[in-house]
Amino acid sequence: MTKTADAIVIGSGALGGSAALHLARAGYRTFLLDRHAIASQTSPRAAGLSAMLRPSALMTRLAVRGVALLDRFEDETGIPVGLTHSGSLKLARSPALAAQLASEMELSASRGVTARLIGAREASAMMPLLRARDAAAIAHYPDDVYLDAALFTRGVAQAAADCGATLMPDTMVTEVLVGGSRVRGVKTDQGEIAAPIVVDAAGAWARSLARYAVLPMVAVRHQLLVTRPLAGVRPEQPVTRILDANVYVRPCDGGLMLGGYESKPLLLDAVPADVADMPIDHAVLRDLAEAVAAEFPSFADLSGASLRGGMPTMTLDDEHLIGPVPGTAGFFVIGGCNVGGLSTALAFAEELCRIIADPGAADTLAPLLPARFTGQDVSEDALRKACRLHYGQHYWSAAARAAGG
Ligand SMILES: Cc1cc2nc3c(=O)[nH]c(=O)nc-3n(C[C@H](O)[C@H](O)[C@H](O)COP(=O)(O)OP(=O)(O)OC[C@H]3O[C@@H](n4cnc5c(N)ncnc54)[C@H](O)[C@@H]3O)c2cc1C
Repeated sequence: MTKTADAIVIGSGALGGSAALHLARAGYRTFLLDRHAIASQTSPRAAGLSAMLRPSALMTRLAVRGVALLDRFEDETGIPVGLTHSGSLKLARSPALAAQLASEMELSASRGVTARLIGAREASAMMPLLRARDAAAIAHYPDDVYLDAALFTRGVAQAAADCGATLMPDTMVTEVLVGGSRVRGVKTDQGEIAAPIVVDAAGAWARSLARYAVLPMVAVRHQLLVTRPLAGVRPEQPVTRILDANVYVRPCDGGLMLGGYESKPLLLDAVPADVADMPIDHAVLRDLAEAVAAEFPSFADLSGASLRGGMPTMTLDDEHLIGPVPGTAGFFVIGGCNVGGLSTALAFAEELCRIIADPGAADTLAPLLPARFTGQDVSEDALRKACRLHYGQHYWSAAARAAGG
């Protein structure tokens, strides 16, 4: 007999787990399906950073909301996610990126985000392993955070189950079933499940599941390393972003984590079936470490460092994809993360849940709705070119990009 649910979520990463949690809390009989083990793919491998100030007012609101929900999550569920209120530093070497930081001060003030420019000595007092004396400008954002991606991804799926969601690992969705212009459920390798609401949270695989819809996104390899423990590192030291190099650094397990955005990223033409099959490229990480050697001499010795990576997705316009999939009532997507879907997952899923309950209320999320691409005829070449650019200049504003960083 076919199983039935009120809502099916495909994919138990941070986004799918968060969607299942909000749906279950709202009273939907929710099934959370994953072709692999629960919470086992890209999400648990993330760096877990969250910056409050984002390029748009909408994303800033969602980032702030995301951290408020994370704070509450730990209190409400008793599940720790390693949320650390570390604050963050942004360091600029070039005049163009120093100008970006100056204009970020005005933006921060207008959006209610606390930020100020500081000197090299103050920055190094906060992050003693940072050599900041040659910086053109440094900004401090005291409310930024980081969290433990693996704890969060497992925790949010557990919390969904605690609220009544049914977790179905090792269940691969082979087709989203549509009747007329409505979703009917999903076909899986374990049989069919009927439901009036289906959420595509399949991460790097989301586009192939919604194959008849326009979801212009491409999976990309993104990697990081964690050094062995280093003297002087403490968990509460700020996340540090070296803007010119598009590199981030944060404390992790007594050492430093380093990740970044190489200028020639590997876009994945064929997405491997399991993230564990995605080869890690040591040379990319070594180059990123070298690119910040002036600021972080500790990265000269990478012996004993552990490496990991995953497959986030980039989109045509560098904005997320959240909301109804055009043309199929009851079918929704939450993805297109642009390497930023973990720390904001609870806020994105809250918005998605609101739209599921009241599709007429989707307008407030207009810049993120998949419908923004309806009618656009975008070639794969153009999509890939745009994604490569957005990725390789991840920390640069539009003005800094125009100036070449
Ligand atoms: C190294 C690294 C660092 C990062 N740092 C940050 C950061 O600092 N801050 C931040 O916010 N983000 C960061 N990200 C990005 C973040 O990891 C992603 O935005 C987020 O994990 C996306 O979550 P997801 O749920 O869409 O994907 P996933 O975690 O990949 O989940 C998708 C799930 O769908 C399942 N699935 C796919 N197809 C099917 C199917 N047909 N049937 C059933 N199940 C299916 C998969 O098995 C998988 O479990 C980082 C990513 C990486 C790799």
